[in-house]
Amino acid sequence: MAVAAHPGDGLFTMGAVLAQQIERGGAGVLLSLSLGEKGAPKNMPVQQYGEMQRQATQKATRLLGADAIFLEYPDAEIPFNEQSSLRVCDIIREQKPDILVTHWSGSWHKDHQNCHLIVRDAVFYAGLETLERKLPPHAASKVFYADNWEDATNFVQDTYVNIEAVYEKWLQACDFYPMWRGQTGFFRYNDYYSSLAVMRGCLSGVKRAVALMCDPNQRTQRLQSL
Ligand SMILES: [Zn+2]
Repeated sequence: MAVAAHPGDGLFTMGAVLAQQIERGGAGVLLSLSLGEKGAPKNMPVQQYGEMQRQATQKATRLLGADAIFLEYPDAEIPFNEQSSLRVCDIIREQKPDILVTHWSGSWHKDHQNCHLIVRDAVFYAGLETLERKLPPHAASKVFYADNWEDATNFVQDTYVNIEAVYEKWLQACDFYPMWRGQTGFFRYNDYYSSLAVMRGCLSGVKRAVALMCDPNQRTQRLQSL
């Protein structure tokens, strides 16, 4: 399960991992906390762009064999509070993911920071046996953080996922977004993330890879369980 502040983050930084898990016989779901509608290009109403982002995400996740869920918080105003954490908690209890991927906290973008905090609390609430919700508790076994150009402060990759088998399909899925092709802003998402996969592949001894960072607490727990 990937949880992203904006659909583009979900596909560009977490989509290849979803695709790889599905390719290996697993399942995948992308939860977008907003539609990313405020990234609209000039002269396009924000609402219309949000609808384009939703449709692009539905097409992209369908191509990868994943499901898409939207919470539709206003872009740039995703709130970090009990209510948003509990909503994500309920989705975790419903979807029952083994592995979660989300934003790293070292981001300049407040939506990304809030998404990180929401997921941290949601994972805790989802697994808390004594917290009564509609669905029974579910403990996700692992949490990883995505390699995102906007979340680069203190990001230290420690896990590599070989995405060679799904690389082309993932690029096709990303191409549903005008943003991927640089049509909405200055940043060359397609060049950055396609070559990042090559660079991470070089470092991990495969052709194409995605790097992740595991939760520091997870690292400690692993050492304790040796
Ligand atoms: Zn974003």
